[in-house]
Amino acid sequence: MFKLAELRHDHIFEKFVIIPNNNKKEYSNGNCPYCLGNESMTNATVLALVQKNGMLKRVYDDSEEINNWCVRVFPSNNPIVTQDTDTTYADKPFAKEPAYGHHYILALAPDHRSPSKLSVEHWTNILVALQDRIKWLYSKKGVTYVSVFMNNSKFIHPHMNIVTLSSIPPIIEKTAISVHKYIDEKGSCPICDTVKYESNSSRQIFATNYFIAICPWASTHPYKFRILPKKHTVNFTRITQKDIDDLALIIRVTLGALANTIESDEFNLVFRLPPEKKQSKQFHWCIDIYPNDNEASILGDEFGIYINRLKPEDAASKLAYSSRREFAEIMGVK
Ligand SMILES: [Zn+2]
Ligand SMILES: [Zn+2]
Repeated sequence: MFKLAELRHDHIFEKFVIIPNNNKKEYSNGNCPYCLGNESMTNATVLALVQKNGMLKRVYDDSEEINNWCVRVFPSNNPIVTQDTDTTYADKPFAKEPAYGHHYILALAPDHRSPSKLSVEHWTNILVALQDRIKWLYSKKGVTYVSVFMNNSKFIHPHMNIVTLSSIPPIIEKTAISVHKYIDEKGSCPICDTVKYESNSSRQIFATNYFIAICPWASTHPYKFRILPKKHTVNFTRITQKDIDDLALIIRVTLGALANTIESDEFNLVFRLPPEKKQSKQFHWCIDIYPNDNEASILGDEFGIYINRLKPEDAASKLAYSSRREFAEIMGVK
């Protein structure tokens, strides 16, 4: 029996599976813990952006000032990773390690307004908060990668997940390798090349001063689109306020366009960022947005990390019991 979150490795298919240690309900629709006024239902605030006298103020705790926050970040009540490191390590073939990390929720707004209807200024605030927290998390021990993803559904308060990992997720690792292979072969960055060749192409959706949105050449989902910085940039944490303002504009425009086109506000958004601290694994970052899938599948599809809330040992015990009954029935044993 284990009590802590485990990260198990599948060495054949290069997958990571997190088996969380809790099954608390983060969220019940009746009384939303992420809404303004319900802060006591979540863990303590680590960052809130508050409008004060026309200025945006960053508040780092639950002081009274946050009673009119517009963006708020706090630790998840139901984290998929843990800071406890008591879990034992094991080597192949049953390799495992503690699923060490931090899981934060970034509430996009104090209420349930759709992200596709928020003002551009509000999106700027979201990105400012996100950049602030990613920087902060990379300064912590044991943080090798900070993943950022959201699954927007009409049933839940619009929010992003910020989950840190102690190793580089398999798909990020693969991305870094293929980007560097391309650079070795062609002598140029594949994302810079994409920006160059997709500008005004039949797959361009929209462009601002510093960003371009396109439907990818080998798009994996209907209406999937990608937002790319026009100039070569590997650190989201170092983009300037001007870049952030521009990124907020293109996100707001394209999200609104997606919602109108598919007549739904359900979408996934994932930041495809390189690991900040690994020099050899850098690549030109981008953001992917596509019509809704579920939250667990984003981590699997985009990072190669799967969440399984049913321990395989428990699943096996149920199926083994049922198999014995099935076998007895087939063999005519009562
Ligand atoms: Zn809410
Ligand atoms: Zn580039």
